[in-house]
Amino acid sequence: MARVSSGLKGTTPVHVVSLGCARNEVDSEELAGRLAAGGFTLVSDPDAAAAIVVNTCGFIDAAKKDSIDTLLDASDHKGNGTTRAVIAVGCLAERYGAELAASLPEADAVLGFDDYPDIAERLDWILAGGHHEAHTPRDRRSLLPVTPVARPAGAVGLSVPGHGHANLPVGLAPASGPRVLRHRLGGGATASLKIASGCDRRCAFCAIPAFRGSYLSRPVAEVVAEARWLVETGVREVVLVSENSSAYGKDLGTNLERLLAGLAKVDGLDWIRVSYLQPAEVRPTLLDAMLSLEGVLPYFDLPFQHASAAVLRRMRRFGDADSFLELLERIRTVRPEAGVRSNVIVGFPGETEEDVNVLADFLAAARLDAVGVFGYSDEEGTEGATLDRKLTDDVISDRVDRLATLCDEASAQRAEQRTGERVRVLVEGSTDDGAPLGRAAHQGPETDGSTTISGVGDLLAPGVMVWGNVSATDGVDLVVELEGQ
Ligand code: SF4
Repeated sequence: MARVSSGLKGTTPVHVVSLGCARNEVDSEELAGRLAAGGFTLVSDPDAAAAIVVNTCGFIDAAKKDSIDTLLDASDHKGNGTTRAVIAVGCLAERYGAELAASLPEADAVLGFDDYPDIAERLDWILAGGHHEAHTPRDRRSLLPVTPVARPAGAVGLSVPGHGHANLPVGLAPASGPRVLRHRLGGGATASLKIASGCDRRCAFCAIPAFRGSYLSRPVAEVVAEARWLVETGVREVVLVSENSSAYGKDLGTNLERLLAGLAKVDGLDWIRVSYLQPAEVRPTLLDAMLSLEGVLPYFDLPFQHASAAVLRRMRRFGDADSFLELLERIRTVRPEAGVRSNVIVGFPGETEEDVNVLADFLAAARLDAVGVFGYSDEEGTEGATLDRKLTDDVISDRVDRLATLCDEASAQRAEQRTGERVRVLVEGSTDDGAPLGRAAHQGPETDGSTTISGVGDLLAPGVMVWGNVSATDGVDLVVELEGQ
């Protein structure tokens, strides 16, 4: 097919909007890196952009709706005389392809993951008035060998978001070491760092593996090189993201323990935070590494999803309330101050009142720092959608309310127990009153609450790390007195 060119590449401003999770944020920065390498200029003002790229989320209905609304809002900019195209990329675009393109004419193109390596060419073509035929979605698990160790070779030539490498022009990445295909969109002292993508598990409620594909790890050297590059851009904390971090390395003959040991040696990297650990996969060696390696935070993101063994089996997951409490005990015996966050799903098909009581008892006993409570909804193509004994929306919403209230109280109590605790805080900004505002080590970005440093005026700039003592709490938020004041 003949390609036309806008003739403007090299000067064309493009704006990228990132929705959904931290993994998507990393993909957005990879796309931005590819666009910058392809000669586009990234701009923060959508009204100054010739093209707006919306990196969508397709996880659950609420996220899908948010993505569609954002695409429609982006389309409104097309009346401004500058913006000429709105492009949908990301999970929703990958998952629905041609169907999304047909139902949403406001988007000028819907691009799938296979388009990512050529994103600059695609945008150039679309801006020149070319029509991009959206893809027909397929199960991306079929693209990689079933045997994990055969995957690195099988992935050559395959487009997997977050696994792109290229020879970038000097200036976009450091001259030494592997070059990083990433352009930071936000800045700040914290950055997500993708260690793997896809998932080999079959949780009955989850559609992610079908559109993100089988599990594929990034090599240790590549992840460490990207961490070094991030530090050079001013980062002090990395959040390791993937669909399942405890499975890291299974396709490369390595593991998360070794990756953490490599990252712990990166000069200038103060905090290494791990996200998405499968509770049943937290082995003793991993626990040791996370509790003892310098720089690796004693922070455990453990999506328990439920605590009733019957519901967990039906979800095709492992564990039960007792094994989860034992795991928490093992963590807190070594590091009593460790942070623990989790997610739970209520209203899964077949969930009884007794199952909810088991979950409620577990949540009351677990002393979690933060919990996301989600109501179950059927996702197309998942086993859960085919199960019997579905609950009504009213029952699900009542159970969400009950558990969310319980979790709010339990997390506030956990925060109160930290009164007097010595904590290290990363300053990220300031309150309306000008007091430094940041996060303590047990607080992950965006979801786990914040920490205000009292009595120092506006003396601490974003990016600074300080020690202090917790003097008060408000829900999960802390107030800290600076040490030595
Ligand atoms: S571990 Fe389960 S919930 Fe997480 S991405 Fe894989 S299938 Fe989905």
